Amino acid sequence: MNIQLLDPLVAQRIAAGEVIERPSSVIRELIDNALDAKASTIIASVTEGGLEEITVIDDGDGIAAEDLPLLCESHATSKVRELDDLYHLSTMGFRGEALYSIASVAKITVESSYKQAPAQNITIDNGQKGKVIPGGPDRGTKVNVAGLFKEIPARRQFLKRPSTEATMCKNVLLEKALSFPEISFKFYTDGKLRLDLPKTTKKARILDALSLTQNIIPSEMIELYDTAGRFSLYAVASSPAIFRSDRSHIKIYINGRPIEDFSLVQAVTYGYGELLPGGSFPYCYLFIEVDPTLVDFNIHPTKREAKLRNKAEIHHQIVTMIASQVRRTIPRLIKESEDSFQMDLDEKPVETTPSFSYPASHSDFSPSAERKTSYQQSHPTQEKPKDPLWFEKAKQALQQNKMEATKQTQSEDIWQIQSKTETFTYLGQAFNLFLIAQKGDDLFLVDQHAAHERILFDEIRKRKEVQTLMIPCTFEVERDADTYLEENLDVYLNLGVKLVRISDLSWELQSIPAMYKKIEGEVISFIQNHTGDIAEIEKGLYATLACHAAIKSGDVVEKSTAVAILDKVFAMEEPCCPHGRTFVVRLNKEDLSLAVGRT
Ligand code: ADP
Ligand code: MG
Repeated sequence: MNIQLLDPLVAQRIAAGEVIERPSSVIRELIDNALDAKASTIIASVTEGGLEEITVIDDGDGIAAEDLPLLCESHATSKVRELDDLYHLSTMGFRGEALYSIASVAKITVESSYKQAPAQNITIDNGQKGKVIPGGPDRGTKVNVAGLFKEIPARRQFLKRPSTEATMCKNVLLEKALSFPEISFKFYTDGKLRLDLPKTTKKARILDALSLTQNIIPSEMIELYDTAGRFSLYAVASSPAIFRSDRSHIKIYINGRPIEDFSLVQAVTYGYGELLPGGSFPYCYLFIEVDPTLVDFNIHPTKREAKLRNKAEIHHQIVTMIASQVRRTIPRLIKESEDSFQMDLDEKPVETTPSFSYPASHSDFSPSAERKTSYQQSHPTQEKPKDPLWFEKAKQALQQNKMEATKQTQSEDIWQIQSKTETFTYLGQAFNLFLIAQKGDDLFLVDQHAAHERILFDEIRKRKEVQTLMIPCTFEVERDADTYLEENLDVYLNLGVKLVRISDLSWELQSIPAMYKKIEGEVISFIQNHTGDIAEIEKGLYATLACHAAIKSGDVVEKSTAVAILDKVFAMEEPCCPHGRTFVVRLNKEDLSLAVGRT
């Protein structure tokens, strides 16, 4: 007889392999349990990377003494009763398998106090259940996991150095902490406090976390909101002024859980579109709150993936939210108002009850309202205004405050108001680099190369005119480009680039987008070096061509050319070059006057 029933502990350990892979998996499960117990403070600590000991303490609801012996049983949970409950989940856990799994591969002690009764505890040592005995914290639960995988040496061999495992544990805690800013978290490694995250707002929590490893300018991180019936979106995202060369800071959370989902990450990058240079990515922490009936988390052992029933709709909404709310800033050469960062941090916490409570739009949010209040307080109503224009001025002042409150809105408004209403006067060229224009109360310094580049980029894109080469050019490519071209010939054809494969790795260029400069070399070099997303190819190719054809910095620009360029620049919705850089600097008359002591 070949088939035999497995020894229960062996079976239990095999099953545990899916859930508990390393110390950070233990941290993840224990933190989830503390969150589900509605803790307001969670403290985690690891020694020797979690191999010697992992402890998580919370001040949550606790576990009743009679429930303690059930903890090491398979499928023992207080969170679901029926299959249907899975689709109305408001808890992180639901399988009742975490403690059971941990108990099979380590010695776990759970001490808990429930409804003010004296604390009790139980120890389960590698599947061996002990007795419930008195002792433990006055409030909440303390779980201690010692000697993880001690009895399974093969498992230990897959682990990294203790310091690396400890970092993984810290990162898991940090990742969770981002979606629970109303809870305070602490993390200790070998007795040393490594993370201290007091209760705060969502934006501040993200900035706190980012500041641990990144050099982020807080005022360049903005909040985005959107609600659409059965789901809502909230994001803390970077303005186009800062970006990275990888996607590692695009994080997606669904109902508080960090989720890996490439298509939603892609939605974020689509939203940024041309705001960012090709090959660069934003910082974006996106929180999706969705009706639990529309999401299934029960598809991955560690719940890293989720199935969304209305994914297409959410995808679309993410792109729209980002594209419409992230705007390029026009740098203004004045000192940042000193309280601006402070004010960001002072914003009232967004309340995140499991229902969908993010404010419906940016304007509903607090900064302008708070500012209004402080303005009113500093101008008591009994002080009767003498100036008949008082009301108008006050309105303007409030408006002004509102603009300062959100730098993004301010820059965008100024650009749009200025662009539409006033004509400009060309004042000349500086350093053979900037074109200078006066418009209303502003001076604009426009980077001539970047501006021209953008104009050409728009033109190539719009016209899509093609120029057939008198003498086709032959060139060689590497294997991956060869394969890519074979599969994506029409991508290039649509962009005005006609290619024919002559032999293995050898191609002929027959037509290129119409330009007034010789650009075959640039087109070929682009083709040789780029494979990937169609949108990226289009943007990259046209940007390369525009960059090559545009006037350079250092060129002397004729007045008529300068005026023609500025005309187009002021008609643009957003002045940024195809690589995503802003190319306009604004100097305001009032700021300049202040700088020389005029008021
Ligand atoms: P699940 O979280 O899927 O229910 P677990 O094995 O993680 O399964 O936990 C089993 C049960 O133990 C939970 O349903 C919960 O009732 C209880 N429990 C575990 N940890 C805690 C805690 N820190 N505070 C309160 N209850 C807890
Ligand atoms: Mg759990």
